[in-house]
Amino acid sequence: MHTTTGPGPGLHAAEWGELPTAAGELASDAPADAFAVPGFDAVVRLVSRSLHVPLVALVLNGGGAYWFAGGNEVAGQHPLVLHPLYRQAMRSQASQVVPDTLLDPRFRDAALSLDAAPEPIRFFASEPVFALTGQQIGALCVMDRVPRASLTDSEHNALRDAAVLASTGVVLRHYLGRTDPITQLPHRHAFFDDLRAHLNAEVPHAWAIAIDVAPVQRFNAFIRAMGHAYADELMRAVAHRLLAWIPQGTRLYQVGTARFAAVLPDDRMLADAARLDDLIARLRRPFDCLGIPLTIQPGVGLLRINANELRGGDPLRLVMNASHEAQRSVRGWAVYDRTQDQRHQQEFFLVTELAAALTERAELDLHYQPRVDLDSGRCVGVEALARWNHPTLGSVPPSQFIGLAERAGLMHSLTQWVLEHGVAQLAAWRRAGHDIKLSLNVSSTDLGADLVGRLQRVAAHHDLNLEALELEFTENTLLEHSAATHRHLSAIRALGASIAIDDFGTGYSNLAALRQMPATSLKIDQSFVRGMGSSRHDEAIVRSVTELARSLGFRVVVEGVETMQLYDSVLGMACDEAQGFHIAHPLPANEVPAWLAAHRGALPGRRAV
Ligand code: C2E
Ligand code: MG
Ligand code: MG
Repeated sequence: MHTTTGPGPGLHAAEWGELPTAAGELASDAPADAFAVPGFDAVVRLVSRSLHVPLVALVLNGGGAYWFAGGNEVAGQHPLVLHPLYRQAMRSQASQVVPDTLLDPRFRDAALSLDAAPEPIRFFASEPVFALTGQQIGALCVMDRVPRASLTDSEHNALRDAAVLASTGVVLRHYLGRTDPITQLPHRHAFFDDLRAHLNAEVPHAWAIAIDVAPVQRFNAFIRAMGHAYADELMRAVAHRLLAWIPQGTRLYQVGTARFAAVLPDDRMLADAARLDDLIARLRRPFDCLGIPLTIQPGVGLLRINANELRGGDPLRLVMNASHEAQRSVRGWAVYDRTQDQRHQQEFFLVTELAAALTERAELDLHYQPRVDLDSGRCVGVEALARWNHPTLGSVPPSQFIGLAERAGLMHSLTQWVLEHGVAQLAAWRRAGHDIKLSLNVSSTDLGADLVGRLQRVAAHHDLNLEALELEFTENTLLEHSAATHRHLSAIRALGASIAIDDFGTGYSNLAALRQMPATSLKIDQSFVRGMGSSRHDEAIVRSVTELARSLGFRVVVEGVETMQLYDSVLGMACDEAQGFHIAHPLPANEVPAWLAAHRGALPGRRAV
């Protein structure tokens, strides 16, 4: 077994940054032991003895090569250019035998010589090396300085067996956590070891860089569509570009399926934004992946780390935060930001808690806020608003969990929960003689073909006429995918339910565009309504929007009517309904009947009798 202290006798490990590589791109200061293939020196002895060859090499797809020259160490040389023979062997699924390179037109012109063995290589044979998954990861090559007839059957068998042993070594090396079998880059453990070794009294901190190839879901979808062979090829191609960019003498590590990292030699790179922009530009260029052009969505994160932080924490997690954030940005790279990280952690906690609250714990509740018709002064409906009472966090406001549920894919369950509970409650109130409607807030992620079916099922289950329901969508939702949205909304309208445009005025839409949608009412956002008391400007906006919306056939609802004064102002306008704290705060379900009874006729209306 090869020791980990350095190259074994007669064994020389070299790593190519690029294939073929230029002299400057060799990671020549990389410790050789990190690339050693366990047991390879024994394999080499066996092959060399049974085939009587002086030279044996293991060439791996990712760019690693292990040399053995007939029991003599190939003294301190790096083969700078990977000869076409090796390159072809590396990719060839079949064994190759070149009895005399000088007679073979493919290799005749390319002199193949090593510094330690200046005479050209005349005989060359190779056997592919496969990973456990059946993918070819390289080739075991044997060479001689004199031409040969060919290989005998038994020599061939010996070479084949040796290739299997070599592949076991490569796989073992992977399982020992040292290198990736596809790119042959050192792994996460090596990254940490080296980072630890890098930091000392004189170098109190280091900059780590992480490169994410694509968001996890996108990468998985890519594998599902194209298969692992393409993904492996893509990773090799990405590694290739990274190695061409990375500062000389810096090691690149593969720290995840689609993630690379490195420790930068100093912090000059941070001051050189153009260099990081250049990295992103290189990565955004299409990759030729087995003949198919592919683009990735790279994100590059940077993190300053000191020895203390390394001891207690996981710098890769931190730098990944930055690279994730960067993936969504135009620039493509970002420096780690602690406050953003805290937000992510908090979000992650909330998402898991919300998922549990939705499935196994009864922490969600609906409150209902009355809506009043301004002609009669009577309550004509209530809006259901979700409430989350967390056992330790207390009440979490919808502003914190609605957006989160959308991003985490929980909205479908949340809306289902709201639908079932809201509709059940409304049906109960209507059975008790309260002639009110119910408005439900629906998010853009709900607006798919199945929303219609979900509505129908829930209403049928509670024997509720769908005319008693209204769905509220924000204006941006309505304008997002207009053609499909139009179809779904029309189907909802056809069932008899109403459609409201919520928070109108906060988006960028214009009324004419919204008019194309089959919506029935428009809710003017509370920010304008609240401002009416102090700003004549806001009052003018509310007044003119109301008039325009009504002329377009919308029923107009004003939100955020907090005071008597505001209530009087909207009474003086053309609005149809009002909602706000002056009328009522959102109420728990059991308080609604009492409120309805107490407020009958309590609020003024234009035509109230
Ligand atoms: P929204 O649909 O515009 O609901 C009105 C919000 O304004 C509610 O906040 C309500 O409590 C508040 N509000 C009502 N009158 C007044 C007032 O006079 N003054 C002030 N300052 N605020 C008033 P809430 O309950 O915190 O909900 C916030 C938003 O969260 C809602 O805005 C809605 O967009 C969303 N949301 C709430 N529940 C659900 C739900 O079940 N599903 C979905 N998709 N979104 C929901
Ligand atoms: Mg609403
Ligand atoms: Mg609103």
